Amino acid sequence: MLNMAKQTIANRTKTAVGGAERIDLRSIRNFAASLSGDVIVPGDHRYSQARRVWNHAVNVHPAIIARCANTQDVVRTVEFARRYGLLTALRSGGHSFAGHAVCEGGMVIDLSSMKRSWIDPLRKFITIETGVIAGELDCLTQAFKLAIPLGSCPSVGVAGYSLGGGEGSLTPNFGYGCDSITRLEVVTADSRVQVASAQENTDLFWAMRGAGANFGVATSIEFQLHPVETVLSGHLKYPLRQAKRILRFLAEYAPAIPNELFLIAAVLPYPGDRMLDVAVVWSGKEKAGERVLRPLRTFLKPFEDSIKVNPYLEEQRSGTGTPAEGDYSSHRKSGHFDQLTADVIDVIADYTHSAPSEASGISIIYWHGPWCSGSHDNAFGFRRTGFEYWIHTYWKKSGERKRSWEWVEQFYAAMKPLSTGAVYVNGLEDEGDERVVSSYGSKYARLTGIKREYDPDNFFRVNQNIKPAP
Ligand SMILES: Cc1cc2nc3c(=O)[nH]c(=O)nc-3n(C[C@H](O)[C@H](O)[C@H](O)COP(=O)(O)OP(=O)(O)OC[C@H]3O[C@@H](n4cnc5c(N)ncnc54)[C@H](O)[C@@H]3O)c2cc1C
Repeated sequence: MLNMAKQTIANRTKTAVGGAERIDLRSIRNFAASLSGDVIVPGDHRYSQARRVWNHAVNVHPAIIARCANTQDVVRTVEFARRYGLLTALRSGGHSFAGHAVCEGGMVIDLSSMKRSWIDPLRKFITIETGVIAGELDCLTQAFKLAIPLGSCPSVGVAGYSLGGGEGSLTPNFGYGCDSITRLEVVTADSRVQVASAQENTDLFWAMRGAGANFGVATSIEFQLHPVETVLSGHLKYPLRQAKRILRFLAEYAPAIPNELFLIAAVLPYPGDRMLDVAVVWSGKEKAGERVLRPLRTFLKPFEDSIKVNPYLEEQRSGTGTPAEGDYSSHRKSGHFDQLTADVIDVIADYTHSAPSEASGISIIYWHGPWCSGSHDNAFGFRRTGFEYWIHTYWKKSGERKRSWEWVEQFYAAMKPLSTGAVYVNGLEDEGDERVVSSYGSKYARLTGIKREYDPDNFFRVNQNIKPAP
């Protein structure tokens, strides 16, 4: 592969890529030769695939994609990008809604090949390199009946997910993904390899858990694991015309549920129509779960009830109904409200009934329990009891874009006055500084100080950006 990349670069002797400074091709060749991994540039047959991210609405052309094989490659790539003033993006799973895994005309530090992992099932710890994706991590940990809270989309990168917070069905019980991080290896903007943990670089450790994209390239992450074997889980599916009744029921039911229950209601595509899907994951004792879920399962007959005891891995693999990687363009807006009031329910019912396509909907997750309400000592800024929502739309043909996009914007504009303003940073697209500040709340000021210390020039800025304090 490396030879092929070198060949491609050598063949392109008449053009040079440019960041702040133009780079001669000999330098790119030398850089490629210095890596154990691979370099992909325009013209390489792999380039069009390598520059693509999950959200096909993002269509940018990086100058160099460095597929790093190890930490030393990352160090060399940071040095190279800094030397030539290249705008630099970091890619793990490539699932950021905003497309922050790539950048126009710059360098991509692509970690997707770095997948070594070490598990200690007795002490219940795992260390992964940051190319590992959620489905891979679930398989590894479930071999020992252990888990960390992960979402149910298997192709999401564990790094982007957990460094931004990380919400999953185990969160009410075990916290957000970032809460299970115990140690990181990070290449910082000065191209040093630093360890961040409760003992070393404690400010960096605090900041990486919730705002990690801003402070360096995490090359490995250690997580504390939790025992999980089976869960009581499944879906209750209702025709969309019953949405109001169900949401009114959830308004009363959700605030009283125990910590072990994860609850999400979503308007999703269904052949021929759309539906309201109420999904649950109970990670406590089965009998107690049956008792807690009985009122939900019986107050109104769904056209499908698939709730049963499942191996946790199977539940994770059952997915969320989101389209597969690279198939669709998407647009979304997310936020948070405290209560499912009559006004909120009216807005949701109005907009979901007038959606432009099957693939346009809303997901609402009820967050609760000690991990969501109490204060925890890291940078994650969305610890809020209440309902998080994601208004989303997907399209394949560019002609569908305008109507779908406008529907999301109008729906969000109607929800905004009913919302608290809080937002999960990983739920953002490119929405400006104000939304980033909202996602960190009272933690933002401390983060700007740590940014000044570790990245005063804002080298890591293709992200939900925290500006260095003056
Ligand atoms: C289909 C789908 C389902 C999702 N489901 C969930 C869910 O259930 N729960 C949830 O919490 N979120 C979910 N998300 C959101 C997801 O957590 C974020 O999009 C996350 O940022 C994706 O991480 P990634 O590594 O795949 O993305 P990337 O685009 O590769 O990276 C995302 C961000 O992280 C930074 N980054 C990546 N790697 C590193 C690194 N090694 N060191 C430092 N910074 C790095 C990048 O700079 C970028 O800013 C979902 C997203 C999608 C598309």
